[in-house]
Order: sequence, then C-alpha cells, then structure tokens
Amino acid sequence: MTEIIYADNAATTKLDLEAYEAMKPFLLNDYSNPSQPYSFSRRAKKAMKEAREIIAECINAEPDEICFTSGGTESDNWAIKGCAFSLGNKKNIVTSNIEHHAVIRSCEFLKTFGYRTIYLKANKNGIILPETLNNEISENTGIVSVMLANNEIGTIQPIKELAKIAHKKGALFHTDAVQAMGHIPIDVKNLDVDLLSASAHKFNGPKGIGFLYVKNGSKLLSYINGGMQENGLRAGTENIASIVGMAYALKRNVEELTKNINYIRELDTEMVTQLKKANIDFIRNGIEPHLPGNISLSFKGISGEMLLHRLDLMGIMVSTGSACDSTKTQISHVLKAINIHQDYIEGTIRISLSKENTMEDVNCIVSGLTKIILQSDKKSKNYSKYHLAKNMLLP
Ligand code: PLP
Repeated sequence: MTEIIYADNAATTKLDLEAYEAMKPFLLNDYSNPSQPYSFSRRAKKAMKEAREIIAECINAEPDEICFTSGGTESDNWAIKGCAFSLGNKKNIVTSNIEHHAVIRSCEFLKTFGYRTIYLKANKNGIILPETLNNEISENTGIVSVMLANNEIGTIQPIKELAKIAHKKGALFHTDAVQAMGHIPIDVKNLDVDLLSASAHKFNGPKGIGFLYVKNGSKLLSYINGGMQENGLRAGTENIASIVGMAYALKRNVEELTKNINYIRELDTEMVTQLKKANIDFIRNGIEPHLPGNISLSFKGISGEMLLHRLDLMGIMVSTGSACDSTKTQISHVLKAINIHQDYIEGTIRISLSKENTMEDVNCIVSGLTKIILQSDKKSKNYSKYHLAKNMLLP
C-alpha cells in the first residue's frame, strides 16, 4: 500500500500494536466462554475482571460501574432508552442540537412512546451554556444528555455545571464521551455524571467494543435481554479479546495523556498558523476549550466535498462532516447549528490529528490545501474574465 497521511482520527484511530498483542491469546488459545465454570475459562474471566478494573481506574469509577457494550452507538442508545423507560412519568428528555445521531435518533425513537425531547441550542462557538439548560429543564425532565466533546468541531462542553443543574431538578445526566475518552482527562466523580458513553476505536482500541459507565444506584433498564452477563444488564457472550484490547489502549492513552495533548496541540497550532500565513480565506469553527487536533475549517467559496476528493488524490484523508454522513452532501446539523456564514459553510472540512501524525504531515496537508484552493481561485477568476469578455461582445 502506498503511504497515506491519515488525518481523520475523529472517525477512527489506528489500533495500538501492544493492545493488538494483548488481544491475540484470547482469539487463538484462551477462547473459552467466560461464563463457564471450568478451569479453562479462568484466564478469560480474570482478563475481563482486570480490564474492567483498568478502565474504571482510568476514569475514577468503580469496576462494577463499567458495562461493556458494542461501542458508542449502543452505549448512547442504552443510556437514553434505558433511562427513559425506567423513569416512570418523567417523560421529558433534554439534549442538544449538536449531539451525535446515536443520541438524537434515540430521542426521536422515544417520541412513539410519548416522550418529548427539548434540543438545547449551542451558541455560535458550539457551546451549550448552563443558562440554556436552566431555562429549559423542568420537574418533568427525566434525563439530560449533552456530549463531552463534539465530534465535528471539537468543542468541550461545561459538563460539570450542566450535570449540577440536571441533578438540582432531580434528572439523571448522561454524557457522550466517545470523542473525548483517551484524549482529555476524564474523572466521572469530578464531573458528577450518572452515565457516560465511550468507544474503543476512538482511542486506539479495536472496533465494535465500548462501554457505558453507570453510576452505582442509577436507574437503568436492561437493554439487551438474554443471559446474566454484565450483572444481568447487558446479555450476550462477552467479546473478551476486544475488551482486553480496549482496556490496554485506554491505559496507554491515559498514561501518555499530557505528552500526547502537548504534542498534538503543537501540530494543531502549526497547521492553523501556516494556513493563516498562506493568505487563504477561512474560519476555524469552535473555540477553546477544544479537543486537541480536531480542526474544523470552513473555506470561503469552496466545496468541502471537492477538497476532500482532491486531498484524497494526494493521499491525504480528511472528512467533510461526521464520518457516518460522508456519503451525503448535505450540510451537517452541527455546522447548521453554529450558524456558519453562507459563504463558508459548504467549504467545511474536518482535519483530525493524532499522536501518529507528524510535523511533516502538517506541512503536506497545508501545502495540498493551499495548492487546491489557489488553483480553484484562479479557475473561478478566469471563468469570470471569460464571461466579462463574452458579455462585452453582446450588443
Ligand atoms: N458519539 C460520538 C460523539 C461519535 O463521534 C461517535 C462516532 O463517530 C459515536 C457516538 C458512535 O460510536 P461508534 O462508532 O462506536 O458506534
């Protein structure tokens, strides 16, 4: 395979090599079902227990508060639907207009069952202000769900303040931490959230595995019914190898968090500085606090789709909206929500850098972008010159 520059780490990340090595024995030799009582299952059972402890320690939770799931989408669905169905008459849900579709569509699904959702409006910087929640929450609110960090523009929300407001009204608080986990420090006790979703493939773990943190004592209905796995809350034979890989990857990322944040911030700053120097007309979406390396840029009078494909031809992978929307040319709900100026909105791309990227990658991305944008500028100027000349010949 030819070398590529992968700058779409918010869509997914590269599997950590040591996490992969740690997974192997559970795919090949220790393949037993951990629910079985015989000795052959001991290693799998022990590995799962240790993985739960490692993950709990990474976010300052208790091991029995970690429930393994198939990823971020399942965790979000379970948190929203599982809470809603266990909360009796409290049929109002409060979320935001910049959530991932896993949250938004779970809320829409609940409409059929008589639930009502209020969507808090993010401000133009992509932040859900605590006073916005204060104005919309009521005694009928059962659950409030606001993401920790946005996948498209990287803004980090004031979760601690939002959770405090939710609790004051007697509502549960869920946060989708899929983009934030392994990239910024997360302490569930300090944030005081009741539920938190995470997905391994966003922090160098394998795909198809994640977890839902459920604070002890929280009301949550079982979502997948069957056997007694995960304390009877989530049935199904556990994906041991992936659980082990997830714990390993999270531990590695958390141990190297400060180093990675500083390094990625350097790349982030350099990219934006170089683009500014190149005299290109663009805006960066979202403000600090910000996920390091999540760079959403809107270029004036350019098509984001065109940028994505031209960069792809140069071997550079970026995204236009969130990955699950990349087959559609529609402008994403997040970009609409933050009211990007008409002249810029269609020219939006997301570059998401990771610890795997280098300064050389940054230089290549900037030079690729500059080339494409200046060429397309020239073309549109030639086009208008041609039209001007043609029009002058007219009577
Ligand atoms: N929530 C957010 C914020 C995400 O960015 C994603 C994935 O892009 C998800 C949820 C869904 O996670 P998964 O891909 O593990 O289902």
